[in-house]
Amino acid sequence: MRIEVDKGSGFCFGVVEAIRRAEERLVLENQLFCLGDIVHNNSEVERLRKKGLTTISHEQFFTMKNTTVLLRAHGEPPEIYAHARENNIKLIDATCPVVLKLQKRILKSYESGLKDNAQLVIYGKKGHAEVNGLVGQTNGHALVVEGIEDLEQLDYARPIVLYSQTTKGLEGLHHLSEELKNKSVRVPLKIHDTICRQVANRIPWIKKFAARFDLVLFVSGKKSSNGKMLFDICSTVNPNTKFISDLNEIEPEWLLNIGSVGICGATSTPKQLLEEVADYLLKIETCPKV
Ligand code: SF4
Repeated sequence: MRIEVDKGSGFCFGVVEAIRRAEERLVLENQLFCLGDIVHNNSEVERLRKKGLTTISHEQFFTMKNTTVLLRAHGEPPEIYAHARENNIKLIDATCPVVLKLQKRILKSYESGLKDNAQLVIYGKKGHAEVNGLVGQTNGHALVVEGIEDLEQLDYARPIVLYSQTTKGLEGLHHLSEELKNKSVRVPLKIHDTICRQVANRIPWIKKFAARFDLVLFVSGKKSSNGKMLFDICSTVNPNTKFISDLNEIEPEWLLNIGSVGICGATSTPKQLLEEVADYLLKIETCPKV
C-alpha cells in the first residue's frame, strides 16, 4: 500500500499567525482566554489547552472584565471590542489580515450604500464566526445567503452589493452571481469576490491529489467550513473519500484491497495530524511511506 500526505494541506497563514500569537503569550503567562476555538481542530485545541489556552464562549466573554482575551483569525463584530474597552479587557487581536480588510470594505460599503438604500449581501454560512463578524460591520443589517434558494429574500427594487465569506468556494460564488445578475436586471449590482486564495488555490490542487488514490482520508474538524467544502470536492473526484477528525475514526475495512491512500485536510488541519494518520497506517501495514 502506498501512503502519501498532501503537501498542499495544513494550516493557512491566518491560523499559523493566531497560534503563534497564543503561544507567544503563553510563554509569558500560563493562562490565556481565547474567544471560541482557536481553530476548528480538536487535537490542536487540546494541545494548546495543555499550555494554558482556555476557550470561552461569547456568552462567557460578556460576563468578563479585567483580563486578557485572544481573538482568533475569524474576526469579531464591533460589540466585542466595545465590551473589551468598557471592561478593561486587553485584546490580543489575531484576526487574519485578509478578514480584517474584508471587514473594513464591508463597513465602508454599508455606510456609503445607506444613502441609496442599498442591500448588503454576504454569501456565507449563517452563524459562522467570520460571517457574524462581517454582519456586525453593518449593525446586523447585512443579509446572509447560503445559496441560490436564499436569493428570494432580496428586494430587487433596491441596489445590491455582494461580498463573500473568505472560505467559500469560487464555483458557488460564480453560480450565485450569475443567478443574481439575472434577477437584478433593473437595479445596480456590485459583486465583490472576496474569497481567500489560501483556500481557493487548494481546490485545483486537491482535486488532482484526490484523484490519484484508491482511498482518500480527509482529515478535518467537523465545524470547519472550508473542511466541509474541500471534502465535498475530494468526494466528487474520488467517491472513496472518508472524512475523519481523528485517526481513531479509521475503520479497518476501508483498507481492504486498497493499493494507495492519500491523506489531506482543511486549512485548519495541522500537518502534524496528517503525518500521525500516515504513521498510524504505516503501523498497520508494512509498506514504504512516500
Ligand atoms: S483561510 Fe484565508 S482568510 Fe481565512 S484565516 Fe486563512 S488566510 Fe485568513
